[in-house]
Amino acid sequence: MVQPQQLDAKIKIQYTYSKVHLYKTMRRCFSQSQKLHLLRLAGYRCQNCGIPLTPNNTAADHRIPYSKQGATQVWNGQALCMQCNAKKGDQIVISNQ
Ligand SMILES: [Zn+2]
Repeated sequence: MVQPQQLDAKIKIQYTYSKVHLYKTMRRCFSQSQKLHLLRLAGYRCQNCGIPLTPNNTAADHRIPYSKQGATQVWNGQALCMQCNAKKGDQIVISNQ
């Protein structure tokens, strides 16, 4: 029979593991390749104001902000120009594209 103390230890290990796992998979910033992928998906235009984008003036943005548990994954990303990204802050903005 499993003793309560043993069970606690097991849960603690699993909890620690899931936290570490989450930390590893949930990076704050999009990688360079994710950013380029978002840029391609956006047709090299800002998904908010439509100005032409290059890899140098693109901000890979979280549609659902990271601070609101938005994932750092391409499906949650959008390519914005620096100005739109700065204006957006941590609001949830879903573009039409
Ligand atoms: Zn813009």
